Amino acid sequence: MEKHRIVILGAGESGVGAAILARKQGFDVFVSDLGSIAERYKTMLEDLGVSYEEKQHTEELILDATEVIKSPGIPGTVPLVKQLRAKGVPVISEIEFAKRYTQAKTICITGSNGKTTTTMLTYHILKKAGLNVGLAGNIGNSFAAQVATENFDWYVLEISSFMLDDMYQFKADIAVLLNITPDHLDRYEYKLANYAASKMRIVRNQTAEDYFIYCADDEETLKVLKNTKVDSRQYPFSIHKKIEEGAYLEGNNLHININQEDQLTMSISDLALQGKHNIYNSMASGIVAKVLDIRNATIRESMGDIKNIEHRLEHVAKISGVDYINDSKATNVNSTWYALESVNPQIILIMGGVDKGNDYEMLRELVQDKVKAIICLGKDNKRIHEAFEGDVEVIVNTFSAHEAVQVAYHLAKKGDTVLLSPACASFDLFKNYEDRGNQFKMAVKEL
Ligand code: ADP
Repeated sequence: MEKHRIVILGAGESGVGAAILARKQGFDVFVSDLGSIAERYKTMLEDLGVSYEEKQHTEELILDATEVIKSPGIPGTVPLVKQLRAKGVPVISEIEFAKRYTQAKTICITGSNGKTTTTMLTYHILKKAGLNVGLAGNIGNSFAAQVATENFDWYVLEISSFMLDDMYQFKADIAVLLNITPDHLDRYEYKLANYAASKMRIVRNQTAEDYFIYCADDEETLKVLKNTKVDSRQYPFSIHKKIEEGAYLEGNNLHININQEDQLTMSISDLALQGKHNIYNSMASGIVAKVLDIRNATIRESMGDIKNIEHRLEHVAKISGVDYINDSKATNVNSTWYALESVNPQIILIMGGVDKGNDYEMLRELVQDKVKAIICLGKDNKRIHEAFEGDVEVIVNTFSAHEAVQVAYHLAKKGDTVLLSPACASFDLFKNYEDRGNQFKMAVKEL
């Protein structure tokens, strides 16, 4: 029999993880990356005895694959991937591949915003409850590498729409869809419906024994749900209406009704992660925990003591009565909306960067009510000026985190908040959102 030849496109965390697992399964493995491969990954591939290439894709070495594992960063529309598909070579994600080799159950968390927070919170609760649980997906060490080397009973997986696009046989035992708002539309022919359909793949292959947890306040979710056949048990959550089976907010209390005899009630003031968006994230994680029969006391304790998650509404310092908050991970308008919603006025907002076709209209009301100055931090800030020049008196341009923080420091008065919540991607001036957040924090600490 011809040897099963796995070709891996993209030698990042997920690609190298897939190589580790594929080698363990005894497959012939080849890794190809159009960019350069980080030194530590090269060493790992060499130690595994896996051949690889960088800065090129050699077609002859790729097209004869039995199966291709593609990094979520590579669009399905690039010619090489189209060629593979035309030849009938299956192109799958690392998550799809890894799931074949583990009996562990999976909790899969997707949505436009809140994935990392909800994944970390869910993992924190499960871990505190003593479950043998791993954390993977878009976060930390790759799922495939952990499947190859660990022996978990459960995984909490952060799943992006790009990963879902290459998942076919995979089934989530518990699926969570937080929300659907415009993001990454460049990969979906600029159609929200395409992106929404991709997110709904989270319920693919689910049966009556599985669970689907979603936000009943999210219009786009409700729209796409109407046209999707869901076989699993559904538990919605809402902060606007009472939910019979699921979670809801009543006054200041969050209720989770999964097991009627043992409902969970918790005051939102006891949540460690504050802000309206985190009520949603906490409800989603809380439902997962109740489905798993975790004790109410453990859930309450975990939701009360989880540490602030870096770059997400992260409180950096209070200097001369001014709070500095790092929300660098807010890379789209919707997440900045939630940041403005949860932070007290007066706000000095640092925003800008690579604008992915943003519609700033949804921020207008909050900007008018709460923002006293906008500090643009990006190479091209024209669209921000145009959007808000009638709403805010002071709009200034800055070109480094240090400069932005200095300007903010001079504009801020006691009681104000300086909020970095860019609504844009970071790669015009920074390596990534972490770099942007770290430079902001460093500049604040130098004040
Ligand atoms: P993701 O992993 O989906 O990008 P994160 O948990 O990293 O989401 O949060 C990114 C940003 O989105 C945060 O800085 C916060 O401002 C905002 N956010 C978090 N949760 C939600 C939510 N449920 N709805 C809307 N915005 C949110």
